[in-house]
Amino acid sequence: MQHKYTRALTLTIIITAGMVLPGLLRGESPNLTASQPGGIKNMSISKTFFGKTPEGETANLYTLTNPTGMTIKITNYGGIVTSIIVPGKNGERVDVALGFDSLELYLKGHPYFGALIGRYGNRIADARFTLNGKTYTLAANNGKNHLHGGIKGFDKVIWKAGEFKNKNEVGIKLAYTSKDAEEGYPGTLSCLVTYSLTDSNELKIHYEASTDKPTPINLTHHSYFNLKGEGQGNVLDHILYIHAGKYTPVDEGLIPTGELKPVKNTPMDFTHPETIGKRMGTVPGGYDHNYVLDDWDKTLKKAATVFEPATGIEMIVLTTEPGLQFYSGNFLDGTLKGKNGKAYDKHGGFCLETQHFPDSPNKKNFPTAILKPGETYTHTTIYRFSTRN
Ligand code: BGC
Repeated sequence: MQHKYTRALTLTIIITAGMVLPGLLRGESPNLTASQPGGIKNMSISKTFFGKTPEGETANLYTLTNPTGMTIKITNYGGIVTSIIVPGKNGERVDVALGFDSLELYLKGHPYFGALIGRYGNRIADARFTLNGKTYTLAANNGKNHLHGGIKGFDKVIWKAGEFKNKNEVGIKLAYTSKDAEEGYPGTLSCLVTYSLTDSNELKIHYEASTDKPTPINLTHHSYFNLKGEGQGNVLDHILYIHAGKYTPVDEGLIPTGELKPVKNTPMDFTHPETIGKRMGTVPGGYDHNYVLDDWDKTLKKAATVFEPATGIEMIVLTTEPGLQFYSGNFLDGTLKGKNGKAYDKHGGFCLETQHFPDSPNKKNFPTAILKPGETYTHTTIYRFSTRN
């Protein structure tokens, strides 16, 4: 049942996005509200000025609200989700996303809080890959490796934005054209990303892209979640379940070795609900691994569930992607102070990044992450929130 529903949903989004992409890429900012049918009561979207980039470009902040108590804030600077407020089990409003209140703080530098990542999420070894006999050198921004799209990835550019609203969701469509050779990648890549808030308390992200030369692509979303509320301590007591019987082990530079290793009888095993903290001490450096999701067939499927007992908030992640990066905020160290002025300490948030496997362009046995001219890259991910006891 779930698959039928999600396939139809995906199709609807792709068609809508496909109609909007050409206009957005021409620089138009369509407000789709008028063209959408329906009551649309209580679903709202508003836009405020967020700041200017050093290049003088304007960043806006979009606030999406639904009638069931959820509010999401997104800026078209880096497609960053700055806030995700969801109802807790006692009706409290909990901001579960780490982030900042001002553009200035994002511009100062941060570890990809809430960001839209591209062209390639996670690492590409030695910042290079060979495609059709030609070796491409990418920007090395993580030691000798390439991470999250390079020095100026999609998380640091201004996206063209258009608002839309329909009966069950409200959102923004973001468009960005990455030039040939940007950060070393081949081909002009046209991207359209749709962020929406649904009336069933979901943050839904749909990605679409096309290219004029073969190129690697791996777009993802990098929210750090804390279901107790951002700045409210660490996430070690959150209970996690991941639908993956295997993961991709990494070397000391966090590059996959190429092996798909069973999680059974290892601290990587989240096929039974377990707290994030229980075996943390036995994982060198903490969790920062790609999980190989079970039964991947490009349809939308459950990838993970996270539950936090105090607020009763549960988050389910659904995706069309083959992999899930579980990162337990190991590099947070209390230096960065978030929206309520509280420090984001080690393990103060976790990320569940839906993706193709890290370093796929150099790993023949991983599902291909190469997009060719004439093809359309698509990826849908949903973060669904609810409460229970
Ligand atoms: C990576 C981490 C990295 C973090 C922030 C995650 O996706 O797996 O290694 O530190 O992003 O950059």
